[in-house]
Amino acid sequence: MKALQDKIRQEGIVLSDTVLKVDSFLNHQVDPQLMYEIGLTFAAAYADAGVTKVLTLESSGIAPAVMTALALKVPLVFARKQKSLTLRDDLYIEQVYSFTKQVASEVAISRKFLSPGEKVLIIDDFLAYGEAAFGMARIVEAAGASVAGIGIVIEKSFQEGASKLREAGYRVDSLARITALSPEGIAFAE
Ligand code: 5GP
Repeated sequence: MKALQDKIRQEGIVLSDTVLKVDSFLNHQVDPQLMYEIGLTFAAAYADAGVTKVLTLESSGIAPAVMTALALKVPLVFARKQKSLTLRDDLYIEQVYSFTKQVASEVAISRKFLSPGEKVLIIDDFLAYGEAAFGMARIVEAAGASVAGIGIVIEKSFQEGASKLREAGYRVDSLARITALSPEGIAFAE
């Protein structure tokens, strides 16, 4: 997606050869027009997939995911990151290891918002090693629902998440695919 790629080039900050900061339009301040175009793009790709729900992880996935859900005219559910849970019976819970924070945390979704037979489109801001996406997919499958696909705003193709997800049989659609991060710049896949 050209507008996204241009925005990453203009405003992305390379923190290291593995981490990109995009807090001016996605991870802190949000560019609603760009998020809207991202939502339309994911919705067009999944127009015929029978999606009944969009799922993401709080908080940075919510902006692109809500625009996708709006365009597909389905609800959005965001998984919540929980530290200690008292009431667990009514939740689906999975462990997710965070690449940026380097800690494992629990993510949870209320059972009442995911039903057997649903077709779920998973959306996330970044794809690195696939931990977040695999965790959400496990929750979808534990609910007896199926994963229609995984829509990623920024894929770092030099990390193994995308290939692992595809090997596991998931459809992955990434709007920007970065092949290298360096102080000289950001390289994109064609
Ligand atoms: P994964 O679970 O695929 O290993 O990592 C994806 C998650 O980690 C995303 O939900 C995102 O929040 C975070 N993440 C991974 N890499 C980056 C990065 O380069 N920049 C930012 N801002 N977040 C990242």
